[in-house]
This record gives sequence, structure tokens and C-alpha cells, in this order.
Amino acid sequence: MSAAASPYPHVVTLSEELFARARGVIPGGVDSPVRGFGAVGGTPLFYDRGEGAYVWDVDGNRYVDLVQSWGALLFGHAHPEIVQAAIDAAKKGTSFGAPTELEIELASRIVAALPGVDMVRFVSSGTEAAMSAVRLARGVTGRDLAVKFDGCYHGHSDALLTRSGSGPATFGIPGTPGVTRGAARDTIGAPYNDLEAVRTIFAERGDDVAVVAVEPVAANMGVVPPAPGFLQGLRDLCDASGALLLFDEVITGFRLAYGGAQTAFGVTPDLTALGKVMGGGFPNAAFGGRRDVMEHLSPVGPVYQAGTLSGNPVAVAAGIAALDLARRFDPYPGLEQTADQLTASLAGMFASKGVPATINRAASLFSIFFTDGPVRNFEDATSADHDRYARLFHHQLAHGVALPPSGFELWTLGTQHGPEEIAMILEAVSSFAG
Ligand code: PMP
Repeated sequence: MSAAASPYPHVVTLSEELFARARGVIPGGVDSPVRGFGAVGGTPLFYDRGEGAYVWDVDGNRYVDLVQSWGALLFGHAHPEIVQAAIDAAKKGTSFGAPTELEIELASRIVAALPGVDMVRFVSSGTEAAMSAVRLARGVTGRDLAVKFDGCYHGHSDALLTRSGSGPATFGIPGTPGVTRGAARDTIGAPYNDLEAVRTIFAERGDDVAVVAVEPVAANMGVVPPAPGFLQGLRDLCDASGALLLFDEVITGFRLAYGGAQTAFGVTPDLTALGKVMGGGFPNAAFGGRRDVMEHLSPVGPVYQAGTLSGNPVAVAAGIAALDLARRFDPYPGLEQTADQLTASLAGMFASKGVPATINRAASLFSIFFTDGPVRNFEDATSADHDRYARLFHHQLAHGVALPPSGFELWTLGTQHGPEEIAMILEAVSSFAG
């Protein structure tokens, strides 16, 4: 699929050159598949810099950025306080592989914020966070089975990659070569928001279930909020069987609300996976949970988990700065209001164009599906018109707005998206032919 004809000179020659070079030395030219624009076609843009709500590609084009490093940025690109905190930390040493006081500072903030987290261990990516939480749940319960939901993405670990959202959804991959049959057998999938399906799994195999892993607001098949009672229903089923409930709050943590979805929905998980916002845009993530569960981790308990760069001082300092900004400015009501205004305007514009569009939103998390029905699960999300999304993507790009390059991803706002940026997004959509 080629880029829609642009009414605006949108030259990306240097990105094309870099993409050609990158493909020679990096598979597909990218280090994470969705970055490759495979779902929308065209050449992935190579970025030169970012500031606030904007990014500039290597050809000098400026875009309002609605990706924000896939949700890692809450305060826009290169926020001066976060950058300064990282510089200050780096000057004192970029990595020790030994404990620092900074880790206690960030851990204490996370424990204070999240009702389900008494203790936390830092890792470097959301993948590691969810993978380690599943291992811990298996180690604690002595059971093997992990239940996950179709279209939820928890990173690319073997146990959690089947029928995933995000990249696998974008590329229509049900699983992946390289995951053993044994690993696939130990993971069982259910449709999101389908409590009955989970009840059936528990009725048949409840004694084998170690963990139910869920995105409490699904955000990797586009945004799909939990149906009323869904999360509580999972809590009850886990309690009845002795399985542990894992909320993957890699996206929702410190974004849906400071205290994550567990605060917003009042359902407390046993384990929580975190990443993105808490890393301030650096490779920093964590998993946490109940003290009695977390104390099964080595070196206190027998469940092994480790990392050379875990709790890296530069990344942790950036995370502290990000969370302190969130405490100081309480950006959540403003973000939600911006999302509400933007989605209401978009809904009106698509309606007036006669383009069927369903916009799902939970607080400031939202995405658009080109379909006229409700989107409650992966099947609904998949049946939306993703070719139309690709056309919208290229139309917006040609008008200076960078949407996520897949209809299975959320549109990410940060505090730096003000009235001017919202107007630019809407102005661009106004000339979209559909
Ligand atoms: N869980 C969720 C909910 C995610 O959205 C992601 C990444 N988008 C991950 C886990 C994996 O995180 P990472 O890419 O940092 O490994």
C-alpha cells in the first residue's frame, strides 16, 4: 500500500535512505516490528528529535506525535526535568550492578501509588516484567497454567505471546515459531470481557491455573475497556481457585490514573506489571505485588529472577522525575478532558463524513475503530476496517500528525498536547476523504 497522495510537500528522502541502510544490518530495518509500518505501508520515519508534543524526522518534517514512545512519555518528549534528572544521575555513574538509594525512592513511590503492590522489583522492559510475574506466580502456586486474553499483549515472552495484541495482532500472527509446544500448552486463551469463558476454564482446569494475566484496560488491540464486573469477576474466580491475578499495567499504570487501573476500578490484583511511564522514557520497568508473594523471589525465596541493568540509576532517576511531575501537576483530569474533547470532535467529523467509526475511551486512553458496531474484544477489533485506518494514518502524516502505525494501538496523549495540537489533529482529519 502506498502513501495517500499528499497535498503538502512531504519529502522523506532521508528516511528512505536510512531505511535502506538499516535493512542491511537490522532485520526489517527496525528493532520492534510495528515500527516498520508493515500494517500501513510506506517508509518508516527515522526521527531526529522530539520536544513536547512534537517529533522531527531526519528530513526536517515536524509532526504532532500521538505515539509518545508507545505510551512511555506522559510529559512529552525531552521534558527538561526528566532529562536533567537523567544527566545528573549519569554523571555519577551510568550503571553499578549494585543497589542504590534511588531504587528505594522509586520503589516507595510505586508502593504508595498502587494498592496491589507492597513490594516491587525493577527490570528493564515490560516484557521482562510480565514474564517474571508469571514465573513468580507459577513458583508460588506450584501450578503451570497461565490464562490470558486474546488481543492482550504482555510482551514477547514464550508464555504470553499466543494470540496477542499489538505487533502480533498487527501482523495477524496467532503465535510465533520458536515458542515450544510445551510453552503454548501451558497458556490458555479466552476472549476479553468474556467472564463465562473464564468460568469454563476454571471449571475444567481451575486447580492447574497459576495466574490470570490481563490488561485491565486492553490497549494493544486498540483500546477496549473492561465490561462492568469483568475485572471483579476475574478476582473472584482467582480467589476461589487459589490462582493469582496479574494486572499488566505497563500502559495503564500512572497513565489511566496515578494509581493505575487497580485504583480506577477498585479491583486489587496479586501481581502487577509496570513499565512505560514509570521509566520516564528510559528502559525501566517493574513487577510488584503482595509481600507474601514477592518474598518468594530470590534471594529471599526460591524463584530466580535477575538483571545486570535492573534498577539502572539513570533510568530510575528519570522514573522518579516523571512520577514526581505527576504528583506535582496531577495531569489526569486535564488529559481526560483533552481526550474527551478530541474524541467527541472526531466522532462528529466521521459521522458527518458518513464514515462508520467506533471510538473507545477509558479516561485519556482511546483509539478509533472503523466499524459501526461496538468493540468489546479482539474479534470485534479485528473486524474493523484496517485499510481505512492505514489511509487515515498516511493522510494525517502528510498533514503533520503522527498516529500509531497500526489500528491495534492506542492514540497516546501527553500533557504537552494543548489546544493548538488538538486543532492541528482535527484540521488534518477534516480533509480526510474516508
Ligand atoms: N504489557 C503491555 C500492556 C504493553 O503494552 C507492552 C508494550 N507495549 C508490554 C507489556 C511489553 O513492554 P516492552 O515493550 O517494554 O517489553
